[in-house]
Amino acid sequence: MSDNTPIPCGGFTPKPTDMLHPEQIDDLKGRAHQAVAQVLADPLTPERLAQLRQQVNTEIRSVVTTFHDHTNHVFRVACAAGCNHCCTIPVSVRPHEVFALMWWFEQTYTPEQQAVSLVTVRERNHAMLSHTPQTRLAAGILCGLNGPDGSCLVYPVQPMPCAQYTSFDVGKCRFARNNGNQYPIDGVANQYEMFQTVGNATTQAFFNAGLPIDLLEITAAIVAYLDTPDAWDIWYTQRRNPFPNAVWTLRGTWYDDGTPIAEQSPSPAA
Ligand code: SF4
Repeated sequence: MSDNTPIPCGGFTPKPTDMLHPEQIDDLKGRAHQAVAQVLADPLTPERLAQLRQQVNTEIRSVVTTFHDHTNHVFRVACAAGCNHCCTIPVSVRPHEVFALMWWFEQTYTPEQQAVSLVTVRERNHAMLSHTPQTRLAAGILCGLNGPDGSCLVYPVQPMPCAQYTSFDVGKCRFARNNGNQYPIDGVANQYEMFQTVGNATTQAFFNAGLPIDLLEITAAIVAYLDTPDAWDIWYTQRRNPFPNAVWTLRGTWYDDGTPIAEQSPSPAA
């Protein structure tokens, strides 16, 4: 980046708006629509949702590796494994994303690894209960799926809001982390627009198919998923939100599974 001035707070750095052409956004949006239509044409399964999530993420990432502005200055994605400041920002997901990431999680990790990670999920969910989204950000409480080394445990299928947050300057993320955990993202307006339109295209397709698309807080939704064995049936067959206690509100809704923190299993080794 030519300008290393830290961004004091959220919003977007004014940048030339022609880094990503509207045709590229429309193209991605069209392909997302197609991909969802294909998935919905077959009997829907969590595996198919995970494949869809992975496909959309792969296509999007192939586009956002670099941006060129109108002077041909190249902005490169600076995100790296373990650089997890943005995972302290409360993330909202849809039910279809919860099924996708949990299917992938269950297929990818051994039962022992899952058990360790899910203790962390419950602990962080519990820690969030006394926070609003804003105070949680300031407290630096990570998403339950951020692993011991700071990497996302479900990176290939991570939900749209996570894929949407791309930094072009790690220094700005570090500054934000060291200065009250402000939003560090020097997002590019039409990159954001791309994710919004692609995300909205997929969400709209599920909505049109009659499937609930309630907005959920991610860590709360995972705990709700763990506590709702018939979640798939509720969502897919009964067409109801299976995670009502994880619905996102402005205050933030954290799922309370009623387990006092002291009675939870020991934390995994860091
Ligand atoms: S799903 Fe992954 S990328 Fe998204 S907030 Fe959680 S740990 Fe971070």
